[in-house]
Amino acid sequence: MFKKEERIPEAEEILAQEPLPADLKKVKAERDRLAAEVIRGKTDKMLLIVGPCSAHESKPVLDYVERLGKLNERVKDKLVIVPRIYTNKPRTKGVGYKGMFTQPDPKSKEDILKGILTIRRLHIDAIGASGLSAADEMLYPENYAYVEDLLTYIAIGARSSENQMHRLVSSGIELPVGIKNPMSGSVPVLLNSIYAAQSGGQVFKYQNYQVRTSGNELAHAVLRGAVDGYGNDIPNFHYETVMSVIEGYAKTGLKNPAIIIDANHSNSGKQYRQQIRIVEEVMNNRLYDKDFKKYVKGFMIESFIEEGCQKEDIVYGKSITDPCLGWTDTERLILDIADKV
Ligand code: PEP
Ligand code: MN
Repeated sequence: MFKKEERIPEAEEILAQEPLPADLKKVKAERDRLAAEVIRGKTDKMLLIVGPCSAHESKPVLDYVERLGKLNERVKDKLVIVPRIYTNKPRTKGVGYKGMFTQPDPKSKEDILKGILTIRRLHIDAIGASGLSAADEMLYPENYAYVEDLLTYIAIGARSSENQMHRLVSSGIELPVGIKNPMSGSVPVLLNSIYAAQSGGQVFKYQNYQVRTSGNELAHAVLRGAVDGYGNDIPNFHYETVMSVIEGYAKTGLKNPAIIIDANHSNSGKQYRQQIRIVEEVMNNRLYDKDFKKYVKGFMIESFIEEGCQKEDIVYGKSITDPCLGWTDTERLILDIADKV
């Protein structure tokens, strides 16, 4: 039984109600161009998708992205920074806080319509505050239409990369879509997902229409580590593992092959401070091997104002989902990456 609680207007209506202002549209178009250039290998700059695991409250996220925007001015010749503003959270056990989309205030009850308007406002204000447009996870493909005009990078989570609808919708997006390896760590599954997302001419039902997609040449891989049959984390950022992904990738003939290393999750075992060491190792491997450098085009880093995480929203700027690096370490790490690009 589904108890109908509230009718949600279609995306077109919501976009008209809360549009992206023309000046910010220009900013976003330029950020899209810069991010796509990295994935296409048209530049030596690296892509950095950095920010909290989840955006649970607008104010600290805006405070955080404003800092990123200032830092961006110092590193923009070397890095393309895309803030993580993740408003939908997949949950390992399926229950619990599911993100700002579902629950705009983590301290009160679910309110999806308010959630949609809150996340649109947040993404718009974030572009205004930082000059950077963001990444979000496309957890529910049918909801992508509510933010499609605001994002520069779309992530497909580890629990979604085998899902047909995620692959189909990705094939109609004309922006970088980073597909995570599945929880099992299967490289063939990951490459099949990228294949599906890059394939055009796919027909399915989307937003009350029969649609046919163009194929997305910017779909690429994100390595987040895996979990074995006993629940142990297995990192996949080390040199040998990445080189075997590269070998498989090269055989597929996929367009714009690119790998982003997710430094947290099963790569760090959520030991968030290890992200610094992981990034360091990957940067050294880039210096050591030309192929490695050619493929590994960026990082995903979980970072917020305060380090670590908390169970409830008590401390300002501290994650209520995965533990994050704090701002001081983040700034140092970003400057360090820029130095070594
Ligand atoms: C995340 O990026 O916060 C996330 C949930 O990642 P994954 O899908 O890799 O678990
Ligand atoms: Mn996370």
